[in-house]
Parts: sequence; structure tokens; C-alpha cells
Amino acid sequence: MPDTKFIKSSMKIPQHPTLIRRSLQARQKELQAKCPVLAASLVTIRRACGNPNCRCARGQKHPGHYLTWKVKAKTHTAYVPLDLLPQVKLWTQEHRRLKQLVHQITQLSLALIQTHVSAQRRKSGRS
Ligand SMILES: [Zn+2]
Repeated sequence: MPDTKFIKSSMKIPQHPTLIRRSLQARQKELQAKCPVLAASLVTIRRACGNPNCRCARGQKHPGHYLTWKVKAKTHTAYVPLDLLPQVKLWTQEHRRLKQLVHQITQLSLALIQTHVSAQRRKSGRS
């Protein structure tokens, strides 16, 4: 039995290489972007518009949607127009889905390497 102790996962990893390969292939097929992909977080930021007569000057600030992402520990921000919000939400969700898939594929690939030795032993034992 392979040592899979260091693999941290809620995903059930099959023990047999054939099953691992099948599981891998299914995920490889899913690893295709169905829309643009955004590795950023959607946040709501409340801001004052600067007009001293506006209600925001008395504390009722205007909520706006922004994307934030990090490049070399520096956080960047981009304003998201309201009419684009539903699409942008999907694009960030697509990134999460792909990231999860890459994570699972990594675990299955590692499992494949780990079962390789015991599979070889089984093969040579049979012949
Ligand atoms: Zn205002």
C-alpha cells in the first residue's frame, strides 16, 4: 500500500494506478476554461464621491464593486461596472473551479508516482 500520509485532502484517492489514471483523465477533461478566468477577489468598497452636499458626506457612502489581486505582495484594485458584475462574478468562480481541479490533479499525479513502485512489484511478481 502506498504511503499517502502527506497528501492532505478530503478527496478520496483510489489505490490502484488504473483507477487513479481514470480519475485523472476525467479531471483533465474538465480542465478547460468555459469563460474568461479571473484570479482576483470581488469586494464591495464604500466610498465618498467628494461632493460635500451628497448624502455620502454624512456617512452614507456609495457601495461599489471592485476586484482585488496581489502582485508580489502588492494589492491592486480595479473598479467593476455594475452591468459587468454578473459576468465578473462567473469569471472569478471559474478561477476557483480550475484552481480546485489543478489541486486535485496534483494529488492524483502524486498518488500515481507513489503507487508506481508497488505496481511494478506486483507486475514482476506475476511474471
Ligand atoms: Zn456621494
